[in-house]
Amino acid sequence: RPKPSGRLTDGLNPPQKAAVEYRGPALLIVAGAGSGKTRVLTHRIAGLIETREAWPSQILAITFTNKAAAEMRERVAALLGQASDGMWISTFHSACVRILRREAQKMGLPATFTIYDSADSRTVIKRIIKARDADTLGFTPGGVSSRISKLKNELTDDEAFARNANMGDPKEVEFLAIYRDYTRILRAAGAMDFDDLIAETVYLFRAFPDVAALYRRRFRHVLVDEYQDTNHAQYALIREFTEPVTAELSAQMQRDGLHVERLLDSTGGIPGASLTVVGDSDQSIYAFRGADIRNITEFERDFPGASVVLLEQNYRSTQNILSAANSVISNNFDRKAKNLFTTVGDGEKIVGYTGYSGHDEAQFVADEIETLHRAGMAYRDIAVFYRVNSQTRPLEEIFVRSALPYRVVGGTKFYERAEIKDAMAYLIAVANPIDELALRRILNTPKRGIGPATETALQSFAETNEISFREAMRSAGALGLGPKVTTAILALAAVLDESAAKVDPENPAGVTSVSDLLTFLVTESGLHETLRTSRDPQDETRAENVEELVAQTKDFDRENPGATLVDFLTQVSLVAAADELDDSSGTVSLMTLHTAKGLEYDAVFLTGIEEELLPHKMSTNEPGGLAEERRLFYVGITRAKKRLHLSLAMTRSQFGDTSVAMPSRYLQEIPAELIDWRQSPGMANSRGGTQPRALNARRDGRSLGPGIGGGFRDAPTPGLKPKTEWPNRITAEVRDNGDLELVAGDRIRHANFGDGRVTQVTGEGSKRVAHVQFDAAGPKKLLIKIAPIEKI
Ligand code: ATP
Ligand code: MG
Repeated sequence: RPKPSGRLTDGLNPPQKAAVEYRGPALLIVAGAGSGKTRVLTHRIAGLIETREAWPSQILAITFTNKAAAEMRERVAALLGQASDGMWISTFHSACVRILRREAQKMGLPATFTIYDSADSRTVIKRIIKARDADTLGFTPGGVSSRISKLKNELTDDEAFARNANMGDPKEVEFLAIYRDYTRILRAAGAMDFDDLIAETVYLFRAFPDVAALYRRRFRHVLVDEYQDTNHAQYALIREFTEPVTAELSAQMQRDGLHVERLLDSTGGIPGASLTVVGDSDQSIYAFRGADIRNITEFERDFPGASVVLLEQNYRSTQNILSAANSVISNNFDRKAKNLFTTVGDGEKIVGYTGYSGHDEAQFVADEIETLHRAGMAYRDIAVFYRVNSQTRPLEEIFVRSALPYRVVGGTKFYERAEIKDAMAYLIAVANPIDELALRRILNTPKRGIGPATETALQSFAETNEISFREAMRSAGALGLGPKVTTAILALAAVLDESAAKVDPENPAGVTSVSDLLTFLVTESGLHETLRTSRDPQDETRAENVEELVAQTKDFDRENPGATLVDFLTQVSLVAAADELDDSSGTVSLMTLHTAKGLEYDAVFLTGIEEELLPHKMSTNEPGGLAEERRLFYVGITRAKKRLHLSLAMTRSQFGDTSVAMPSRYLQEIPAELIDWRQSPGMANSRGGTQPRALNARRDGRSLGPGIGGGFRDAPTPGLKPKTEWPNRITAEVRDNGDLELVAGDRIRHANFGDGRVTQVTGEGSKRVAHVQFDAAGPKKLLIKIAPIEKI
């Protein structure tokens, strides 16, 4: 048997090399972060092709994001010195869409089916709940949608659910009814939600063994990255791909003229594909989406004959970063101990920073980034991570002010903007005329005098006559509506019909490009003009966004010659968070910890390392929640190659509320000597302290020092949480003003801002905020409970 050339194996350590050269039914590579798992996958693919053991078209590689897929494709091409067409390197969702578009009709769906994002499915669920009055039983769109998602991830469709539901429980009966309505409505609209994409592919393969056989014959090597985050449906799908083809079906394929001879084994069937999965149970962070760690722990049982390779050398991070990661994750019991090592040396210490507020923390991040940049680090090699999207607000404000080039990955949500969804709904209504959700969205957007009563009339007319909503629109004349409304509906229907003709492949005049179609739609519908001429200043931005979408379709047309409207819609649906990453753009990347998975940066800033954020407050009452949050912290730490910064704030504003923040419990799990703690300048009047010096600074409750103006830039005034412990066991005497009574007109004295007059008190309980006009320092907002103030 030929071996992959030295080019593919030189520089790999022995277990990595063994994994690249492994040939057999199933291989599991388990290893900690940064140990080269993804690299091994890439070299393995290149090796299979280089030795001609596999054609590119026989490879199916699954990655977690489209971005990771693109990267892997590039690396394989670089290793081989040529692009490999026909190779499938994609996410689960992309692979499934490709298969489903081809085979949809077998499942009773149009090939142009719409993919509903979570907002779309929530809209549908909201309507169902409303129609059924199910909110009286306590059903909410959020609750229902996450339960349905969970069920689909477990391959429990509404029928399967019905078989096991407790029919004695009225809530369960109602939930079943909602689930059934939801399923029916999506079917009728020719739509699938994200979870359907995986589940329907599994059902397709199970229902049509001959279809499954075609894909099993084709994909001889299946490789899966980030296997620890696969859920049951994805696991089932992998099994479907890697099952053998029976002798009977192989014979059938031969009769159909397909070449299978070279694949047949002694039984006359085709053996299952070779499966390689790589993963790290310490990085499993998607349990909330049904990821099942047992997929890894039971791999050897599930795939008999499997080999296991362990990797222990980390090639990414310095020893200090690695030691912090090892130390944190060792607090999770119920895990196999593994200890990563590196040979690159200790590197710099981790930098810790306690800011007064989210803004102060953000300023630290911006200042540090500038320092790194001046020292020669490129912006694109720097990333800032956070637990929840709302944390970007202070970061963005400061970055803009500091003229720091940055990009929020997955946070801009361009396609979630209302005006973009409107424009997209026009395209969807053309591609998939039975999509009622899209039609109802555009029916009165822009406003054309079609009210909810008319919408309902159209809907019931469609139901009574068993026609689609679109056909009901065409028959608007028969509904007895007012003449103006009737004309408006017919005009819209005509625009859509004309558009459909433009993209009809049978059209003798030629098929219109996506950009021309979109331009036609936003012009003829009046969508663009209405926004352009509106007096609402926000509408100007909205009009520009629509123009930006048109520009994007132009790019799409240019980059994908011959691609169709459905291709465009598919691409937009599948844009995953990390896809917006652009390494060449020379900007700092901001993203959530979840999005950061699998990536690496020279310098990493982990922000908001506070209780309630990390661990997130929702996690604390979930079983296993704290361990999962710890893994998320571990994922964040292990993204850093050279520099790691951990920061937190003492107060944090969210949704207009300012609350006291506590350092995350996980900070204590990092050996103190690995972190060099720094403070907000305004707090640094105590020297030589090793840990959050804020505490020393505040011991006397007032000595915040003169550096205040430059130190923290914004009210509200910070304070410390009473009677709690800061990391590394330093206890502070902290301030608690209890129920200090304050009303407008009171004069107060502040430890730093001096005297002032209360102009207003807002909020309640411990969240009460005093608006104060200070005689010297100007207006400030202070959290009464903790601000260093007294009445005078
Ligand atoms: P994660 O768990 O975070 O996904 P991983 O195990 O997939 O990490 P990779 O991303 O494949 O790790 O590798 C981490 C870094 O180490 C990459 O920059 C990779 O190029 C480098 N690397 C891996 N193996 C070697 C090696 N044998 N020699 C040199 N560099 C290596
Ligand atoms: Mg990886």
